[in-house]
Amino acid sequence: MRSLVILTMVGGLVATVAIPAYAASTRMPIEDSQTLQQMSAVDAQSLVVASDASGTELARDSYSATTEDEINKKKAAEAAAARARAQAAAAAASSSVSSVPVNINLVSPGTGEVRWPILNFTKGRGIGDSGYHQGVDLLAPGGTPLYAAAAGVVRIAQEAYGGYGVAVVIDHVIAGQRVSTLYGHMTYGSRQVVAGQSVEAGQLIGLVGSTGSSTANHLHFEVRVNNGLVDPWAWLVANAG
Ligand SMILES: [Zn+2]
Repeated sequence: MRSLVILTMVGGLVATVAIPAYAASTRMPIEDSQTLQQMSAVDAQSLVVASDASGTELARDSYSATTEDEINKKKAAEAAAARARAQAAAAAASSSVSSVPVNINLVSPGTGEVRWPILNFTKGRGIGDSGYHQGVDLLAPGGTPLYAAAAGVVRIAQEAYGGYGVAVVIDHVIAGQRVSTLYGHMTYGSRQVVAGQSVEAGQLIGLVGSTGSSTANHLHFEVRVNNGLVDPWAWLVANAG
């Protein structure tokens, strides 16, 4: 700090002296150019002398004001602050990455082998509830997208599949087991797949409706593992993601 002040003062001196000399150079170019050279030589030397002279004084002052220990402590504090900033930035970045962008019109979000066949639903009757019921009812407005719960091959895709109405059945092989999923009561004309077609997990297959034996818009979802009915809700909760 002090050396800066001294250098600035020296610089100011040079400027003060040099400007009149330079102004005079228009009249006596040769003499003045010599004068300028001499002056710059002198100034250069005085600059060195000034910084040299202040050197010991500065060193002593700086040591008394800021010891090496204090410098190290300050460096450590700065490093800690930098680490804290880096950690905060990393945390902010990771939190923004983890917020899954919901693209409801294309693919069911998630990275798992098994996906939720519908989003933003209200859970209705489960398997075995109120008598004979082989699946789970997931209530949502008509037109809500429905997705393949896993990759597989479409076995059934019909506009009138008995009481299921507009329905799709997909066969999968998951963890070495034969699994089939059924999606019932879709909107007429909304099927996006045909029998024999391969689908990806989360692929759009149709839209929620109330066709067949249904009185309200909902997805009736069934799951069979090795041809045996399982609780589809428990299966989704355990596997979908
Ligand atoms: Zn049902």
